[in-house]
Amino acid sequence: MSPTKESDPHSKENPFKTAQRQLDEAAALMELDHAAHELLRWPLRELHVTLPVKMDNGTTQIFHGFRVQHNDARGPNKGGIRFHPDETIDTVRALAAWMTWKTALMDIPLGGGKGGIICNPKNMSAGELERLSRAYIRQLGSFLGPKKDIPAPDMYTSPQVMAWMLDEYSIMQGQNEFGVITGKPLALGGSAGRGDATARGGIICVREAAAALGLNSKGSIAAIQGYGNAGSFAHKLGAELLGMKVVAVSDSKGGIYNPNGFAYEHAVAHKKQTGSVTGFPEAEDISNDALLELDVDVLFPSALEEVITERNAQKIKAKIIAELANGATTPEADAILYSNGITLIPDLLCNAGGVTVSYFEMVQNASGYYWAEEEVHRRLEKKMKTAFYSMQQTAQTRNMHNRMAAYIVAVGRVTEAMKLRGWY
Ligand code: GLU
Repeated sequence: MSPTKESDPHSKENPFKTAQRQLDEAAALMELDHAAHELLRWPLRELHVTLPVKMDNGTTQIFHGFRVQHNDARGPNKGGIRFHPDETIDTVRALAAWMTWKTALMDIPLGGGKGGIICNPKNMSAGELERLSRAYIRQLGSFLGPKKDIPAPDMYTSPQVMAWMLDEYSIMQGQNEFGVITGKPLALGGSAGRGDATARGGIICVREAAAALGLNSKGSIAAIQGYGNAGSFAHKLGAELLGMKVVAVSDSKGGIYNPNGFAYEHAVAHKKQTGSVTGFPEAEDISNDALLELDVDVLFPSALEEVITERNAQKIKAKIIAELANGATTPEADAILYSNGITLIPDLLCNAGGVTVSYFEMVQNASGYYWAEEEVHRRLEKKMKTAFYSMQQTAQTRNMHNRMAAYIVAVGRVTEAMKLRGWY
């Protein structure tokens, strides 16, 4: 795979083009200054790295990776690192821009960044993953730091990967630097409540959105597309906190469906044993596409970008779409869902529980004093509700869909900071 492989720039499905088009729409509605708009359409910096890694069979394999810093006007760049075979620079650019909007909407003093390595972690040993993680930090460690850019987990990266990266960075600095990375294991300066924070934040949003619609979330029916960290914890917490009945879940191999619902513990145990949710004895197999179109109260897209597009938006029957995945819905689909009266909780808000607790982790690392889990939950709840209502109020007063409202709040905050700094 070429290191600079870009998605087709003319394709509407290029995530970076999508991110730029979303910004363009917000900029027009806000009558944003031309220079500020142009500045925000692009990352401020990006680094491409080439990584030689010794494999278990004695050969050396060359990997390619990126780190993109979209905008740090409001504070250091913040965002996860993905390990994925289909990673592209444009995906990382889009994800970095979405982090800028997410941290601004949540009103946490951070900017937006993202990283990625083109690799297939499912085919790599723990030793190979450790050497790859350390090689990545050696190549771009000087680009990172608690006051510059703070990575975190994203797709197919784990607290263990964060621990290796923290260790490599600390070796380079000659001292421990816990605040350089978040999503760390608890034993290494991680925060209580970070593990399920993405899903917890999403569930808080669903509760608020359901209340606004007059929907009783107890007994409400849900389908979850994607069963990684965010999707599986949404199953657990949806049932525990809201009394939801989850009738369908899926992963990259396919989906499962039982109209009577099934327990999180059973589905997770089956996936652990077999490597996939498919073939679950308590449900029938269905396709990922069919799952998206089920007649449910809440649909959680929790996997990759661009799963709800103009091709299937008209067929979506859910009353609420809770975007735990980044970039799950295209702008064309947004318009269709809005005109069909579907409430969409956009990624910028719905999955922001993760970065919000990452911010709490940084605060705890800086002070060297660690909070109890209940304290993290209490602070997360407050942040999520405040952001939810600022988005909802903007959507109602300006008569627009939630994503545009979230953009308007976020872009307003970032441009205010840029203006004060004299950037335009
Ligand atoms: N990767 C997560 C996201 O997309 C978390 C980022 C973070 O904790 O910095 O929001």
